[in-house]
Amino acid sequence: MFMTTNALVLREVRYKEADRILTLLTSTEGKISVKARGALRKGSRMSAATQQLTYSELTLFGNRGKWTVNEAVIKEPFTGLREDIENFALGCYFAECLESLSVEDQPDAALLQLGLNSLYALSNKLYSPEQIKAAFELRLMCIAGYEPELKSCPACGSTEPEQPILKLSGGYVCCRRCDDGKGEYARLCPDSLRALRYIASAPAKQLFSFRLSDEALLRLGSAAERYLLTHTERQFQTLNYWKNIRIK
Ligand SMILES: [Zn+2]
Repeated sequence: MFMTTNALVLREVRYKEADRILTLLTSTEGKISVKARGALRKGSRMSAATQQLTYSELTLFGNRGKWTVNEAVIKEPFTGLREDIENFALGCYFAECLESLSVEDQPDAALLQLGLNSLYALSNKLYSPEQIKAAFELRLMCIAGYEPELKSCPACGSTEPEQPILKLSGGYVCCRRCDDGKGEYARLCPDSLRALRYIASAPAKQLFSFRLSDEALLRLGSAAERYLLTHTERQFQTLNYWKNIRIK
């Protein structure tokens, strides 16, 4: 049985001499694993279209639940990422997050769109990497069902919490003085809280269109990253790698 689908290549692993095993986020099947035979052979037409962080139209052949790539045509190569090692590394972190938070055989249009928009913004340097990363992380958590409660402090009801903090495992914002002392929190400020609210509710295409001072962006970035790490309960090698190459 043949199937055509649009797919973002999240991961590629070399298999045997010239094959690739791909982890894909597809428009029709959600996350799936496929084999691309001969993709690493010299002159293979499939080679470029099955590279990590490429968005392609793939024709797949399925047999007993296993998929093989029959044809592959690039839709968006994200060329800018391949010319900038830091942004490529950050793109790989986005891919690892998408792999971790997507479900096999369950298509999720919002998740795929978030991945594509974030890689596009990064590839074309439309915003700073820190801004794209923070927006990606928080929006991803919202789509995956971990949207934090950002409207008001649950203790005093204030919609503008005093010295606001984001309770990480609790998943809500409150005033620092109203904190119950249970669990870790990330410190916010009025501007970074406003940005968090914006990211949670903005239309997909305007997700990154907010402005923050460097200080507020640092707070937002730290809160978004720690929130994601708390709820996924894991480490991301690609995140550590990105941080390492940035320091040097
Ligand atoms: Zn309060």
